[in-house]
Parts: sequence; C-alpha cells; structure tokens
Amino acid sequence: MSRFLRKQYEKMEPYTPGEQPKIPDLIKLNTNENPYPPSPEAVKALSGEDMESLVRYPDPEASDLIDAAAEFYGLEKNQVAVGNGSDEILAFIYMAFGEKICFPSVSYGFYPVFADVFGCDAKAIPLTEDLRIDPADYMDFDGTIIIANPNAPTGIALGRDEIEELLRADDSRLVVIDEAYVDFGAESCVPLIDKYDNLLVVQTFSKSRSLAGARIGLALGAAALIEDINKMKFSFNPYNLDRLAIIAGTAAIKDRTYFEECCGKVAATRERFTAKMEELGFQVLPSKANFVFARTDKISGKDYFTKLRERAILVRHFDKEPISDYVRITIGRDEDMDRLLAVTEEILCEQVK
Ligand code: PMP
Repeated sequence: MSRFLRKQYEKMEPYTPGEQPKIPDLIKLNTNENPYPPSPEAVKALSGEDMESLVRYPDPEASDLIDAAAEFYGLEKNQVAVGNGSDEILAFIYMAFGEKICFPSVSYGFYPVFADVFGCDAKAIPLTEDLRIDPADYMDFDGTIIIANPNAPTGIALGRDEIEELLRADDSRLVVIDEAYVDFGAESCVPLIDKYDNLLVVQTFSKSRSLAGARIGLALGAAALIEDINKMKFSFNPYNLDRLAIIAGTAAIKDRTYFEECCGKVAATRERFTAKMEELGFQVLPSKANFVFARTDKISGKDYFTKLRERAILVRHFDKEPISDYVRITIGRDEDMDRLLAVTEEILCEQVK
C-alpha cells in the first residue's frame, strides 16, 4: 500500500474473482461460464466487422444493443441500460441507490465490496439454516434490497410471487433482483417491471449467452430508474461497452433459438449430474442455476476441492462459514461432468482406505 491511498480504502477487502489458470486440459468448472460457445450469429457478426472501425469511439448509447434487448424482453428502450458486465450495473446501482442497502449474508461476493467502495450503510441478512433466503427477513428493511435470484453460490431460487410480495409490501424502497442465473430454470421478474416502479432487474450475457469475455450487463426497470442508472454511467464511463461487445451482444440476443437450446442443455445436464452426485452420497442443494452447491460427510469441502484440482478439475470452494463444507460446481458439458463423477468416485474410494 502506498502512502497516497485514501484512508477510507486502507482496510477495504477487494473481491476475489475465480481463477482463470492456464493449465493444459483443465476442466474448468469454477466461474459459472457457459460450456457452449457464443451464438454462431455473434461470431459471424464479429468476424465480418471491419477492425479499423476501432479507430472511433463506440456508440455511447449502445442503441443497437438496447433496441435488441428491449425487443427481447418486451420493454421500451427507455427501460433498458447497459453496463460493462453486470458488475458495472451493480456498481451504478450502489452509486445511485445504495445509501442504505441490504443483501443476503451468503450471496455474490461483490455485494459487500461495493458497499465498502461506495460507503454504503450495508446490512447482511443471514440465510435460513438450510441456506435459503426467507423473504420475510427483508420485509421490514427500509433501504434498497438486493437479492440474487437464483442465489449464488447456493443455486436456490425464489418464486416470482415471493418477490412480488416484497415489492408490494413497501413501494417506498427499491428491490433489485440480480438475475445472472435466471435463464437456467428460475422465474424472471421482468414481467413485473410494468407493474412495479420500485423493481430493478439485473441481467448478464456472461452466463446464459456465453459471452463472459465480452463484458455485457443490463439493467431493466422503470424509465425513471434507468434514467438514474444512466446518470451514473454518463458521469463515470460513457463508452462503457466497446464496439465489439455491442456487435456481439446485439447478434447474440437476437438469436433466441440458440440461447434456449444452450440453456436447455445446461439444465438437463444439471439434473442428470445432481442425481448422480446424490447416488454418490452428496447432498446437493436444489439448483435452478448453471452450477450446483454440494457437500458430503465423506470428505471436507476443502479437501474435495484440492483433490479435484490435483486431477486438473477446477471447482470453487469458499473457506467461510456456514458454507465451508460445500463446493460450487459449474455445469459443463456432459463429458466434463462424467469425468468429474469418475474422479469423485476415485477420491471417495481413497478416503475409505
Ligand atoms: N451477479 C452474480 C450473482 C454473479 O455471480 C456474477 C458473476 N460472477 C455477476 C453478477 C457479475 O457478472 P458479470 O459482471 O460477468 O456480468
């Protein structure tokens, strides 16, 4: 740390992203990326692009992408804002609406970090003993509520009706639903947007649209909320989506068929993999996401993570309570999951000896 750092940041703990190692033949199941490539339409649009166009700034309004996203979600253009990944959208939300904010104590690791960066009065609300979010615990909070649905890293989803109750209970507070993983089988709150002007939905192209490397996120909500988000964007980074991201994202969101096919394949693999893990004696939380959260009495979460890594399979372990027994496993292709199951059987056999 230099002597120039602002005092308020001296003790700040930054977010730790999952590793992106360069190990050959690694089966990478640690950062919830999609195992399938981006839409062929996105790849085609990018390869047809004249790279010399990069001499110019991108469209600060990202209007091609906004038009396509509005069309996809059945919203007006002024109900959509774009971010450099949904991380940036979340940052804008904290900047704009985060004076007093709460989130589940076990959830996306960035939520408390943003609270530190932007000096928010933040409250972490514990999960239930079975690692669920109980909406009743949020009913009386009088600030902005942010909930990932499905939650990460548990994968457990709330129903749209449960979230609607929160929205209805007190319309003087904003409810932000982070739908990073919703497309793999949970209920989106987008259909509630026209009914509730205290709802903001956050979406990303990093998971269900296979474009983690392009960094594209969306905010969807009432026009007044989107205006506030854009006030932050244009005060911070007006060209937040680069030209290539706008091109890839626009083509990807227009290709509904490919998107639905990939999400369906991932969800089917998740169900098959969950059943096999349960046969091996794992307890797997009921996931609607593209990952599962699993534990067993036969080996600790940390040891299981380490032994998988030694065999070139990377999953995610969080060394904190109450989730240190668990590992989070991203759903990959069927063959990746079969390999993981075979290796797991080997590891469990070694434990018994
Ligand atoms: N929300 C949740 C719940 C996430 O898990 C992630 C990614 N790990 C994000 C948001 C951010 O995703 P991105 O910035 O890639 O859109």
